[in-house]
Amino acid sequence: MRVTALAGGIGAARFLRGVRAALPDADVTVIGNTGDDITLHGLRICPDLDTVMYTLGGGISAERGWGREGETFVVAEELAAYGVGPSWFGLGDRDLATHLVRTQMLDAGHPLSDVTQAICDRWQPGVRLLPMTNERVETHVVINDEGGQRAVHFQEWWLRLRAAVPAQAIVPLRAESATPAPGVLDAIGEADVVLFPPSNPVVSIGTILAIPGVRDAVARTPAPVVGVSPIIGGAAVRGMADACLTAIGVETSAQAVGVHYGGRGRGASSSPGTDGEQARPAGLLDGWLVDTVDAAAVVPGAVVASRPLLMTDLPATEAIVRAALELAGV
Ligand code: GDP
Ligand code: CA
Repeated sequence: MRVTALAGGIGAARFLRGVRAALPDADVTVIGNTGDDITLHGLRICPDLDTVMYTLGGGISAERGWGREGETFVVAEELAAYGVGPSWFGLGDRDLATHLVRTQMLDAGHPLSDVTQAICDRWQPGVRLLPMTNERVETHVVINDEGGQRAVHFQEWWLRLRAAVPAQAIVPLRAESATPAPGVLDAIGEADVVLFPPSNPVVSIGTILAIPGVRDAVARTPAPVVGVSPIIGGAAVRGMADACLTAIGVETSAQAVGVHYGGRGRGASSSPGTDGEQARPAGLLDGWLVDTVDAAAVVPGAVVASRPLLMTDLPATEAIVRAALELAGV
């Protein structure tokens, strides 16, 4: 079975561990968000790719959910002693080696997809990890604070400001002129099932969908597409996804996120286009899995199912994945 998942960081990485447990023999392709990427101290940092890689490769800090287990922060302390920031981005010593290797390879002219594959040779995540694009797309957030109206890097808004300053806009810079990385569109078009893990709908999944061709590939894939809600009972389980949803005018609820992705309307009730052309699919989802507390959610054009969605441990996560696969009919 070929499984393709779009992925942010922590929510996706945990879910993907469940995918691997539920389908140990499946061919899993992960299309990772690179909109959170940032250059610091001359190093290219890809937080979401690394979170997926470290989590599936057994190197993640279990306590933090990001960065390395057994991490130390000596270099960060030394930088602070020089007064060199930013202090809000946690750069661990072990983690730094990954960024050094990545930056060296990028500087030598290798595309990010090749670099990611090379780094994954060490971690053996058991999935094919592709960046959404090889080009630099960075999410910026327009805010208005004592500094006036300005755009800051997503990481500054998220980590330094804790998303507490309202976002007036969230913009994946240069997304509109980017191209999907090699293999991305094929992985969506040739999958047996496409999954949206419970990732941030705006700055994780939304950014991947903003790369030209990706949204259309999902909308048109013959495979069933099933999403898992990152919102339970009107709140993001972890992090500040609510601030991102508010910024794009979407309510923080499982139903609103499902409606935001939109149903594909491929069920019995959908009718073909009347103008002789193939009707453009209305949305992205065939199935939307919500928590039992959100069981009343309705997403036109998609089948909604409910079950507990807290990824408390691996068995619980595996059960969520099995429910998503069941909803997909695979
Ligand atoms: P990030 O890039 O590290 O922020 O990670 P993602 O975008 O992949 O996922 C973040 C989202 O995961 C958050 O907005 C949460 O709503 C969601 N999330 C975290 N833990 C859980 C969980 O146990 N269950 C569900 N359903 N969602 C979760
Ligand atoms: Ca992220």
